[in-house]
Amino acid sequence: MKRYSDTEIADLMKNASLRDLGKMATQVKLELHKDKITTFIVDRNINYTNICWVDCKFCAFKRRIGEKGEYILSFEEIDRKIDELLAIGGTQILFQGGVHPKLKIDYYEDLVSHIAKKYPQITIHGFSAIEINYIAKVSHLSIPEVLARLKKAGLSSIPGAGAEILSDRVRDIIAPRKLDSDEWIEVHRQAHKLDIKSTATMMFGSVDNDEDVIEHWRRIRDLQDETHGFRAFILWSFQPDNTPLQKEFPHLHKASSNRYLRLLACSRLYLDNIPNIQSSWVTQGSHIGQLALLFGANDLGSTMMEENVVAAAGARNSMNQAEMITLIKDIDELPAKRNTAYEILERF
Ligand code: SF4
Repeated sequence: MKRYSDTEIADLMKNASLRDLGKMATQVKLELHKDKITTFIVDRNINYTNICWVDCKFCAFKRRIGEKGEYILSFEEIDRKIDELLAIGGTQILFQGGVHPKLKIDYYEDLVSHIAKKYPQITIHGFSAIEINYIAKVSHLSIPEVLARLKKAGLSSIPGAGAEILSDRVRDIIAPRKLDSDEWIEVHRQAHKLDIKSTATMMFGSVDNDEDVIEHWRRIRDLQDETHGFRAFILWSFQPDNTPLQKEFPHLHKASSNRYLRLLACSRLYLDNIPNIQSSWVTQGSHIGQLALLFGANDLGSTMMEENVVAAAGARNSMNQAEMITLIKDIDELPAKRNTAYEILERF
C-alpha cells in the first residue's frame, strides 16, 4: 500500500476533486476490507459525570461543582443504563466523563470493578487520555500504574477522545488547560504497551488549518508504526452551538459536508496502518454518514443509545440497528454487528 508523504497529502487536500478522493479512498478501503463488510456496534455512552475543571472552549457539556445541572451517576443509575443496553443486545459501554477535580483512583477502581463483576459480558471501553492523565496526577501515581490498576479492575480499552487536533498551536487556543499533544500520545503509548488497545480521534473545524490536520495524522501514524495499538480512527467536526469558542470567534460555523468527506478520504489514504475508519453519522447525519462509506469509512460506529456530549452542542442525530442495516445494504455492502475488537458477531 502506498505511503503518502505530508506534501503529497497536502496537495490532495487542496487540489484533488471530491470524486477522485472518494475513488482513491475506496480503493484503499477495499484493499484492507476485501469482503465488503461494513460493521457497526450496539453500545451506549455512559457519561458518569459532567463535572469538569478543564473548561475546553468547544465544550457545552461540562459543569462546575455546584453548578445547575451537575451530576455524578450512582452505581444504581449506571446499572440501570447497562440493563437497558443488554435488553437491546448491546456489548459495549463507552464510559467517559468530565475531569472531576476530586475523584481519585480508588473511586475509578471501585466503579470499574463493580461493572466488570456485575456485567462480565459487557466490554468497558472507557476513560480518555485527559481522565487517565488527571487520575494519575491527583492520585500521585504514574500513568502506567493508573492504566494497570484500571485494567486489573476490568477496563478493556480506551477511547481516543480528547485528541481534538494534535497541534499545540490549536490546543493552546481551544483547550489551553487540557493535556498537550505529547501527553495525549504518551497515555496511548503506555496503554498500548500494557496491551490496552485504543482508538484515535480528531475534531476538526475550529481554528485548525490543513497543516494542523496533517500534523495530527502524522502523530497518530507514527505512534501506530511504533505500537500497533490503535484499532480505529474517527474524525468529527466541531459542533459550535452553545460553546464558549463560538462566542469568542463568532465567525466559526459547522464545517461543510464537503470538508468532512474530503478529510475522511485523506485520512483513509494517509493512515495506511490503521485498519478501521469510522463514519461519524452522529455529527454529520445519517445520509452523510452513509456517504462516508464511499469515502473510506468501513464502520458506522455505534447505534448510540445515549449521547450527551455533542447533543449539548446541538448535534442530535439518531439511528437504530435496522436503519444502519438499510443504509449499508443501499450501497451494496454487507452489514455486520461487531464487538469492540472489530470481530464479527452477526451478519444480516
Ligand atoms: S471536552 Fe471533556 S475535558 Fe474538555 S471541558 Fe468538556 S468534559 Fe471537560
